[in-house]
Amino acid sequence: HADAAMYAVKTSGKMNYRFFDREYYEAVRAKIDRNAELRHALETDQLVLYYQPRVEMATGATCSLEALVRWAHPTRGILEPIDFIPLAEESGLIVQLGEVVIDKVCAQIAYWSRQGRDVVPVSINVSPRQFNESDVTEVLRQAIERHGISPRLVEIELTESSMTADSVHVSQSLENIQRLGVALAVDDFGTGYSSLSQLQRLDFDVLKVDKAFTAELEKTREGSVFFTAIITMAHALGMRVVAEGVETVGQARCLKQLQCDEIQGYFISMPLPATDRQPILPRYVL
Ligand code: C2E
Ligand code: MG
Ligand code: MG
Ligand code: MG
Repeated sequence: HADAAMYAVKTSGKMNYRFFDREYYEAVRAKIDRNAELRHALETDQLVLYYQPRVEMATGATCSLEALVRWAHPTRGILEPIDFIPLAEESGLIVQLGEVVIDKVCAQIAYWSRQGRDVVPVSINVSPRQFNESDVTEVLRQAIERHGISPRLVEIELTESSMTADSVHVSQSLENIQRLGVALAVDDFGTGYSSLSQLQRLDFDVLKVDKAFTAELEKTREGSVFFTAIITMAHALGMRVVAEGVETVGQARCLKQLQCDEIQGYFISMPLPATDRQPILPRYVL
């Protein structure tokens, strides 16, 4: 391939072709390399989970934790999902990555339980491709069994884009997951192509409102108008509402007034690695 690219460079004669060829070739090559590197990372257990608390407004207690994957890269430090999840989605490695995450979460819950601590449910992000190309229900069922934990301690987060893909297949999988006793949450609500009827049909337990809406709260009047409407709708459908990306006390106060059930964000805590001891379970009363 390298020779072919060089040949194209030499024979094309025009600057733009030459740049196009080389840059295209290098981009493809870099992608293949990074993909091989990610595969290696999965094989050598370089992925770690960070946990971010979700706090219940009524009590101020941490009521659940979201597992957020990080890549502890041997030379580049801790990498965030944006640096490798899109690549994993594209190459299909997300399926394997997703299974690793599910296993790690269940192992962590089992560990915390053995420590005799207060254990709260942990939510796991599942990507659309993982949903379409693997049997997430079966992977979950086996991991829960292998680690001997209660399914009530696991929650699955899906974005709206996962639901529009193949609705019959997806709604069946979702029902099966709920039948295991695992709760379901809609992630990043309001940013995708929402289908409100899907929401009703699929009977989600939790609605997580995207941080873009939280950011508008104190800025514009419309910000709280949208939040009020979402909360009213979600409550009417029997869902709890979580505001994502809460960064200020003002936003938290506003959300409490709007009767938002739970908040998550830097205002409470950054995502943190699991410690040997209990997870950090902050308590905030406004
Ligand atoms: P998400 O599921 O919506 O997760 C919330 C993201 O918002 C996290 O980013 C979190 O660190 C960040 N965040 C939390 N509080 C605040 C805040 O107050 N302000 C702001 N600006 N951001 C906040 P992170 O960890 O970088 O993850 C990004 C996305 O990557 C996640 O969005 C999720 O879609 C995906 N992701 C993370 N872990 C996994 C995983 O294990 N599997 C899959 N398939 N996707 C994952
Ligand atoms: Mg999430
Ligand atoms: Mg989200
Ligand atoms: Mg997201």
